[in-house]
Amino acid sequence: MGRDVARGCGPPRMKPGVGAFVPANHAPAAQGGAWPPPLSVERVGSCPLCGSPDQRPLGGVPDAGVQEINRYLPPGIGRFNAVTNELCACSACGLHYLDPRLDGPSLAALYKGWYRFAFPRIFDQWYEAQRAAEFRDYHLRFLDEVAPNRGSLLDVGTGSGAFLAVAREGGWAAEGLDLDADAVEEAGRRHGLTVRSGTLQSALGPDERFDAITMFDYLEHTTSPSCDLDTAVERLRPGGMLAVRVPNRAGWQSRLMGLGWLGIISVHLTYFDESVLRRALTNRGLEVLRVYQGNFRPVTAILSQRARWLRSRVSREWSASPAVADSAGPRGPRPKGFRRNLARLLWSVGIELVDHAGGWFQAGNNLLVLARRPL
Ligand SMILES: [Zn+2]
Repeated sequence: MGRDVARGCGPPRMKPGVGAFVPANHAPAAQGGAWPPPLSVERVGSCPLCGSPDQRPLGGVPDAGVQEINRYLPPGIGRFNAVTNELCACSACGLHYLDPRLDGPSLAALYKGWYRFAFPRIFDQWYEAQRAAEFRDYHLRFLDEVAPNRGSLLDVGTGSGAFLAVAREGGWAAEGLDLDADAVEEAGRRHGLTVRSGTLQSALGPDERFDAITMFDYLEHTTSPSCDLDTAVERLRPGGMLAVRVPNRAGWQSRLMGLGWLGIISVHLTYFDESVLRRALTNRGLEVLRVYQGNFRPVTAILSQRARWLRSRVSREWSASPAVADSAGPRGPRPKGFRRNLARLLWSVGIELVDHAGGWFQAGNNLLVLARRPL
């Protein structure tokens, strides 16, 4: 395969920051109609990575992500309509991608629904602490191993700044970039971080170069991964490192579940495996140094999170139990939910352990590649 064709570098879709922490009762401003707007799709027609029009249909996938967001929208506003995504494979470079895919306004509405309503109700500051542990124990450690001198770092799609804060603590002169204005403000408020609002193509000065550029859970969200990779390579100093993490299409969950893989959702526009990502980087003149496949979550953090979750569930159900409400004495018998919650806990811990095992066999659910621009 020849070098990836550079496609038009229009403004990419908004990548969801990890946290637009707006109060849940703050509905997004309706723009000329009720919110949420109807979701509509657009035809892509060619591979967003290599530009080839040759594609092979793989099948339709009802989007569980939209249903998930709908569950958390408050009463009094509408619901997103159901979406079925069509997945196809590029015959030239092997990338899988959605075609058709949601158009720009639909994706923006979906991100707003997620980050204003669903995200704050599902994740808390403890989740952010887990993300920080994940970045510290894996991503930053891997980066430090290949770039011990550290230097300047740009984190693209930085979200609430969890990785940025960890990188700064680790000695990098780190700054972030995000399209989501809420996320930019939140990162500054939480961590005192420098986060620019904008895109790789729009937010940087003409001469700015970096010793490292990181894209964690970013590339699969952009409409033009080709453009973003091109720009990132241009913005690296000679010898600079590019670190890219995406969901792994060749991970055990995807292999086992096929089109039922939970990673196939409307906001994931592209699906990489190691060979596709490797080629995309080497075709741009980068040298791939390390490839990791895993779930990158510290086991201790997972166990601690599950224990917290179980404790909160049991205590809530206990206090709601009629046996407790009617009893003037010590706690009544265990509510029925205890066993169910315990079963869910054991199931989720089991899944985590399988996830880790997938990493040992190079079939983890996330793919992290470190590549260097030659001197
Ligand atoms: Zn392609």
